[in-house]
Amino acid sequence: TQESTVLELKELKKHFGHTKFKSELQEKAIRCAVKKKQDVYVSMPTGSGKSLCFQLPGLMCESQLTIVFSPLLALIKDQIDHLTKLRVPADSLNSKMTLKERDRVIMDLRAVKTKLKFLYITPEQAATKFFQELLQTLHKHNKLGYFAVDEAHCVSQWGHDFRPDYLKLGELRSKYPDIVWLALTATASREVRDDIYKQLRLHQPVAQFSTPSFRKNLFYDIVYKNSIEDDFQHLADFAQHCLGDVKEFKAMAKPQRGCGIIYCRTRDQVERVAVGVSKQGIGAVAYHAGLKTAERTSVQEAWMRGDQPIICATNSFGMGVDKASVRFVIHWDVPQNVAAYYQESGRAGRDGMQSYCRLYYGREDVRSIRFLLQNDVHRARGRGDKELLTERALKQFEKISDFCESTGCRHKLFADFFGDPAPQCNGQCDVCKRPKNAEKALEMFHRLCMD
Ligand code: ADP
Ligand code: MG
Ligand code: ZN
Repeated sequence: TQESTVLELKELKKHFGHTKFKSELQEKAIRCAVKKKQDVYVSMPTGSGKSLCFQLPGLMCESQLTIVFSPLLALIKDQIDHLTKLRVPADSLNSKMTLKERDRVIMDLRAVKTKLKFLYITPEQAATKFFQELLQTLHKHNKLGYFAVDEAHCVSQWGHDFRPDYLKLGELRSKYPDIVWLALTATASREVRDDIYKQLRLHQPVAQFSTPSFRKNLFYDIVYKNSIEDDFQHLADFAQHCLGDVKEFKAMAKPQRGCGIIYCRTRDQVERVAVGVSKQGIGAVAYHAGLKTAERTSVQEAWMRGDQPIICATNSFGMGVDKASVRFVIHWDVPQNVAAYYQESGRAGRDGMQSYCRLYYGREDVRSIRFLLQNDVHRARGRGDKELLTERALKQFEKISDFCESTGCRHKLFADFFGDPAPQCNGQCDVCKRPKNAEKALEMFHRLCMD
């Protein structure tokens, strides 16, 4: 209702100094959590303000505190520092604390009136007998506001940061069925989401707030490597096409100019492509883990400043890189899996402008990647979880290489992966734009493979 929105905005201003919600989704998730009628699941990209989805509701629970599970002490420290600056009482119980610090927290938790609003804890700590007893006491005195699980994908073996201790959190769900749970993550495929629901034993129906995966300003296509004559020229032509008119490009201030990323699998390949493309007259720098840290930083900065429009990189590049004017992302090799493809290509078009994501596909690349993944599987034989993970990596790779040899809508691949309904592609992929051409290209590819 209108009234409650106003109340939440007031609290937002009061505690955090923000005058509005960061997004409609953030607002909706918070309003739903505040009602305490349902468990809440939030999946939004990094930086979209997920913490607020438990912090604001937590602050609105009078004389109750929220238990926050978080996988890393570093993350916990960041959040506590942030809250402390805002004068919100938040603390942790962990192995890095001195006895004195610990006692202070425990005293407060056992006091008649607890001051703490947030208690951050790793799932390892949560499993201790000491903490279990503490929880019982808090619960008995009606002091528990919410259980919040940050980085909830850690509960899933399908996720990339599986943490076995997260599995034990499900028991808490059963022990305290009356407390509302809030689970948050940035990276959740349909499988991971289902796993989060199951492992945390969230109560159905869970209220779900997820950013839709569809990026309508990105055009996706696949080009078969065996259909092109000159690799570097093809790459340079495409880059030029994405960057637009040369005169206009040069007229712009460097940092505003469009730019692009070419992902390659190996360091050698990165170097080769950077040189090859540069020779075609369009500046490209090389970035990979083989460079010294200082070199890596200077390469990245040159690209960020717009000195060179293209950065050729291995997949170690991109974490935390937030450049709005990336007009294209090229995969010169097949990405490892759909999640990586989505994430890496998704670095294009952050400013909402039309941008291009191209994957160059070849059977030789597939064979060498498959070979490496199969080796991983062999080496992990009989090693339990490790074996499972390597098998899964192989399966996920087969999935994306199969996809590249199909004529399915490129955007639908992602929607299926994230469990979203089929998107309105509207000609934003090669298949939907010219289905006949896409089929012909694939036929040609298969024919050339047989030669
Ligand atoms: P996430 O966990 O989704 O990666 P965070 O919770 O760390 O994101 O928030 C990212 C940034 O957004 C933080 O600096 C936070 O203070 C800011 N933020 C969150 N909500 C709002 C808002 N309503 N208005 C302005 N800034 C916000
Ligand atoms: Mg976060
Ligand atoms: Zn499509």
